[in-house]
Amino acid sequence: MLFSDIAAALEALAPPQTAESYDNVGLLVGLPRTPVRGVLVNLDVTEAMLDEAVAKGCNLIVTHHPIWFTGRKRLNGEDYVSRIIMEAVKRDIGLYACHTNLDNIREGVNRRIADTIGLVDTAFLRPGRTFQADGRAILTGSGLVGTLPEPMGKQAFLAHIKRAFGCGGIRYADAAQETISRVAVCGGAGSFLTPDALAAGADAFVTADISYHKFFDGEGRMLLMDIGHHESEQFTSELIRAYLLGEACADVWEKSPAGNSTQSGEKNSPGNKEELSKTFPNFARYFRRRAAGEPLFPVLLSEIRTNPVRYC
Ligand SMILES: [Zn+2]
Repeated sequence: MLFSDIAAALEALAPPQTAESYDNVGLLVGLPRTPVRGVLVNLDVTEAMLDEAVAKGCNLIVTHHPIWFTGRKRLNGEDYVSRIIMEAVKRDIGLYACHTNLDNIREGVNRRIADTIGLVDTAFLRPGRTFQADGRAILTGSGLVGTLPEPMGKQAFLAHIKRAFGCGGIRYADAAQETISRVAVCGGAGSFLTPDALAAGADAFVTADISYHKFFDGEGRMLLMDIGHHESEQFTSELIRAYLLGEACADVWEKSPAGNSTQSGEKNSPGNKEELSKTFPNFARYFRRRAAGEPLFPVLLSEIRTNPVRYC
């Protein structure tokens, strides 16, 4: 299996054309025809992760956040971004980013956030365009909105979010209502969706990177919660890893490459086989290769917590 195969698999899930125009997604460093020895997954790439990749025998790092967004005129080691790019090239480590294309699909970053909270009946908060890829229509949109199975008191909801996401603290603007039922979510910087969350009738909007003045936009009608950027997106690494291991479709192909049982619930019903075969065409190919005896490679979660933000 080559870097280009991993790219094709990830892009079947989250096509690059669904990424935002400012973004930088795909294979950012590395030759597409490099054989994969192992994949290391994290939210961000850091200099320490290059050492970790070497120690664990991985030569491809897949992250949610790209190491750089805009054009760079020099790579001279004076900043951490250029050092990471240079070291990755020197050590023959590929860097791959799956960012806003994973934000903007139904089963992406925000689905994991909604599942962590326990939301049901989710829908896009701001529906976007429909893309055609591999002969199928891919709906895109920003954020999700759903409903709690049972309404919760406001304080209980805040405590639930703090615990579920391991937050060092939550900055929030209060709301008049005491009960939370409808909840909007957007991983990372989501305050651009505050008007959409209000229009969707959300009692709470769980997001991150809210600046002072933006907290007023809740109008006192919605808990507007900044739970931390890293905290909100922390499950994205697991999402990528599970997808690459085929755990999201374990019943279809009997077992995951790691031999682990699946935890992905509803998607594993045998009735979804045909649908999943259409949704994950690259994995169908991948598992067929496995059946032919192609060597496996590890897909590991990085042990480095990359969050640069501390709380005191
Ligand atoms: Zn982010």
